Amino acid sequence: MNAKKSKGMGGVTFCLFLIMILAVFWLTNQAQTRQREITYTDFQKLVEDNRVEAVRIRQNKAVPTGSMDIFLKKTDEERRMYVSDVNEIQAYLNEEGIIYELKDVPQDSWLMTTIFPTLLTVIILMIFFMMMNRQAGGANAKAMSFGKNRARLSTDADKKVTFAQVAGLQEEKEELEEVVDFLKAPKKYIQVGARIPKGVLLVGPPGTGKTLLAKAVAGEAGVPFFTISGSDFVEMFVGVGASRVRDLFEDAKKNAPCIIFIDEIDAVARRRGTGMGGGHDEREQTLNQLLVEMDGFGVNEGIIVMAATNRVDILDPAILRPGRFDRKVAVGRPDVKGREEILKVHANGKPLGEDVDLTQTAQTTAGFTGADLENLLNEAAIIAAKEGRIFLQQEDIRRSFVKVGIGAEKKSHVISEKEKRITAFHEAGHAILFHVLPDVGPVYSVSIIPTGIGAAGYTMPLPERDEMFNTRGKMLQDITVALGGRVAEEQIFDDITTGASQDIKDATAKAKAMVTKFGMSEKLGLINYDNDSDEVFIGRDLAHASRGYGEEVAGKIDAEVKRIIDECYLKAKKIIKEYDGVLHACAELLLQKEKITREEFEALFEEKQVLEL
Ligand code: ADP
Ligand code: MG
Ligand code: ZN
Repeated sequence: MNAKKSKGMGGVTFCLFLIMILAVFWLTNQAQTRQREITYTDFQKLVEDNRVEAVRIRQNKAVPTGSMDIFLKKTDEERRMYVSDVNEIQAYLNEEGIIYELKDVPQDSWLMTTIFPTLLTVIILMIFFMMMNRQAGGANAKAMSFGKNRARLSTDADKKVTFAQVAGLQEEKEELEEVVDFLKAPKKYIQVGARIPKGVLLVGPPGTGKTLLAKAVAGEAGVPFFTISGSDFVEMFVGVGASRVRDLFEDAKKNAPCIIFIDEIDAVARRRGTGMGGGHDEREQTLNQLLVEMDGFGVNEGIIVMAATNRVDILDPAILRPGRFDRKVAVGRPDVKGREEILKVHANGKPLGEDVDLTQTAQTTAGFTGADLENLLNEAAIIAAKEGRIFLQQEDIRRSFVKVGIGAEKKSHVISEKEKRITAFHEAGHAILFHVLPDVGPVYSVSIIPTGIGAAGYTMPLPERDEMFNTRGKMLQDITVALGGRVAEEQIFDDITTGASQDIKDATAKAKAMVTKFGMSEKLGLINYDNDSDEVFIGRDLAHASRGYGEEVAGKIDAEVKRIIDECYLKAKKIIKEYDGVLHACAELLLQKEKITREEFEALFEEKQVLEL
């Protein structure tokens, strides 16, 4: 990489050198013309006074005009005169008997008048563009290397990150273990004909340790690590991004086995076709090049492309196709245990007073990411240092918590005990319905760790089975599950919250689709009332031009949607009442652990059955 930089710098130096040479050339040329100029009459006078030693005429044969250098007697002064007719002046000089030399005008005029200005303009333009590019990118080493990739290659010299430094994230690390192993000993896998994923996409909210995790994979495997940020690809010059991608992969191939890490890939890999200005913009070209490169290198070539994003929903689906980023690793916010581990990692090197209780700190920081926790301890250390102490106290952490927790954006992180309780019952409600209803679920995990994008928790079913159709029964069950959160809240607390708004929206949308799109309501029959076009255009679902039906039908649709929702609501209520014991047990477990697995959840049902027998 360094070689490239110096090549770039060499270009600049060369340019400056050229400018200097030309400037010197030009100036000396100017100096030559700095003899005193005289007129023809002045010259005649000099001749009459017998002061002229000799002259030199520089003629332009074609015209024939020229200039004349006049050397004076007894001094080394010179004069210069312009000659409008060389033949005439020759005759005059012969007549007066003055020695003269006749020379043709040197061809430098052509050089000076044509090449030099052009060259100067080009150079100035180049410098101008370079500065613009530099401003756009901010890196100053890339001056002369527009298309060169800006990936940074970290090798052993850089501080090596290992899995030990990544706290929590146990499942994530396990998933990546395989990648590490492959990079360490590719032969082992190739021998048995195994195909290793080419691309691994780390998905998760900012600050959860995606970048750290990617570095740790390289560190563990001891392979070179090329890192570049998605925004580096997005340049003001069309085609630059694409050529950067090409160079990046070229470099990587020379260094295989290695890891290419594209941080914040959403900057390039956004869904195509939604850009303003339509058609092929710069980003699209870059993305296409990325896809071409990823398809281009063979399986098991020893390059693994890792990428991180916090918005998987806006990525172009093409990027997730097999043979590209076929492995997705969700990097979530840490649970209580994870938070404690992260606190321990970052407490390293910070002497803790005996009253510091990291376990308790972990309990009160639900929703904090690794980066938040790191920040929390750092602020605490700063507070301690300000007070001249050489160790941290719990009070420092408490004060830091207020400082970090109240910081504008982070407000949502600090959730009260009561909110936590409500969320726990809400999620438990969803989970029970997932489990009990036959066509949905099973539950994969339940969590009350705030997601930071509005949801206070989530209940995740196992990835959907590949089914060609959605049946009426399954859709009804989906709606029932969606309503389960609210139902559970109602049953436990005498008040209800706004927390279920997304659930209600989802349920309504589904019920509406059943009626207007799938002909699942007898009252309205097999008619499509839904005139959504699936076309992609600017602002996607923005413009619903018109409905294709009248007020009366609209009323009927609304009534049917309401009927479906009401039925599902009653069903949800009945089931959750029936499993009241599980509801409480599940909520309590959630409050304690924040995140529970499928096994832990299903065990709750068994316990209940045992009690009943
Ligand atoms: P992301 O790339 O997901 O936005 P980073 O990997 O850049 O997050 O994390 C930012 C910082 O937060 C890291 O440098 C590290 O100090 C801290 N951090 C985040 N997650 C963890 C973790 N699981 N263990 C230890 N430190 C973490
Ligand atoms: Mg990052
Ligand atoms: Zn919900």
